[in-house]
Amino acid sequence: MDTDSLRSIPAVHRFTDDAAIAAYRPLLGASAVRTCVNEVLEAARAAAQTGGALKFDLLRERVLSALAAREAEGLISVVNATGVLLHTNFGRAPLADAALDAVSKLGSGYSNLEFDLESGDRGSRYERVASQLCELSGAQAALVVNNCAAAVLLVLDTFARGREVIVSRGQLIEIGGAFRLPDVLRKSGAMLVEVGTTNRTYGADYRDAWSERTAIFMRSHPSNYRVEGFTAEVDAGSMAAMARELGVMSFEDLGSGALVDLSRFGLPREPTLADEIAAGVDLVAVSGDKLLGGPQCGIIAGRSGLIDALRRNPLLRALRVDKMTLAALSATLALYAEPGRLRDIPFFTMLMTPLDDLRARADAICSATSDARSIGVSARDAMSAVGGGSLPTSTIPSAGVALTSRETSVDDLAAYLRRRRPPIIGRADGDCVLLDLRTVRPAEDAAIIAAIMSAPACE
Ligand SMILES: *Cc1c(COP(=O)(O)O)cnc(C)c1O
Repeated sequence: MDTDSLRSIPAVHRFTDDAAIAAYRPLLGASAVRTCVNEVLEAARAAAQTGGALKFDLLRERVLSALAAREAEGLISVVNATGVLLHTNFGRAPLADAALDAVSKLGSGYSNLEFDLESGDRGSRYERVASQLCELSGAQAALVVNNCAAAVLLVLDTFARGREVIVSRGQLIEIGGAFRLPDVLRKSGAMLVEVGTTNRTYGADYRDAWSERTAIFMRSHPSNYRVEGFTAEVDAGSMAAMARELGVMSFEDLGSGALVDLSRFGLPREPTLADEIAAGVDLVAVSGDKLLGGPQCGIIAGRSGLIDALRRNPLLRALRVDKMTLAALSATLALYAEPGRLRDIPFFTMLMTPLDDLRARADAICSATSDARSIGVSARDAMSAVGGGSLPTSTIPSAGVALTSRETSVDDLAAYLRRRRPPIIGRADGDCVLLDLRTVRPAEDAAIIAAIMSAPACE
């Protein structure tokens, strides 16, 4: 063994005392930081025997990147430059400042979550958001659970256990993240009765399938795909009327569920929660963190007698939301009550940003990086998408920057951007990585510029 090089391995305390390394202590804990240092030195010691390098600066870089990787095993902020507004992998809808303020205020202390201040008795945690949801949708009553999948499960468990649910074959959907409607149906103890064909289902199909065993006529919104061409589905109003006539319940899993008409933002007209309630559907379920732009949750709105039955189901106890979700949802819904404030919800801020603003930012990034050594930067028009299992076929004109590496492949360039802090996630587009600025906050442009400027040039 070469004792000289072992002696020349820098001492552990030089690493643990280093300011950049020590900065990880509050995040990861002192012992995890020490473990990382020891692992890197261990590997260096082994490499030293075969003539590996032992320079402090080099080892310090290795420790820092090991620590950064360790930190990213938990949640860290990323710059979403994919142009997908509601990206399930990136946490779907960013929250409005008002929602975050409410979470911070109510989360840091006690609240009247389940306490009626008038009577001094136990109260219901759902009251306030329920009345907001009723005002916005025209529903008689509403309830909030953990997500839309939980909402569907609760409805089916409450009303269709051991009975039949009739669904159009064209609506037996799978949403990303392993939500398959037939599986949820089975789990709830309901029996699925598929009617119609993949592309065409008629009212008569529901009617023919109806029997004494039928509990629910169900519609499910194909949020993340489209059946196009020679198609027919039974609309919500006709299904609800038929269900009423035959004495069964009507239920719609609206999923992405918009609360306002998105056509005023240049998107296709999506049915809103209010539309489905007005069409007479008994219960409607939607997600809170898709087109609504709020926290992860599932909303069920509809007839008060049915909502009461849901509230009595013991399963609700397992699916209920906490005070932070309720605080964030309530604050988000309050922004809907004042039309001028809709733009304070990040999803709508992004939708409403004028194309010229994005082009100007792209130009500014190009100018600021004209001296970059190893990355070529050019402004480029792009197309953003709503995403999150919503509006699968519609795109929004956008702008961004196309990055090309003079030294490495597109994959390596994308990997370099992901390793940055904050990580920057773009999309590969031919020979470049495209960074779409519609989903990037203006304050994050600086991180993009810094990443471009400090990309290493190969020797
Ligand atoms: C997204 C979606 C779901 C699942 O919603 P989560 O809130 O993610 O549980 C269910 N049904 C439809 C139609 C959806 O679009």
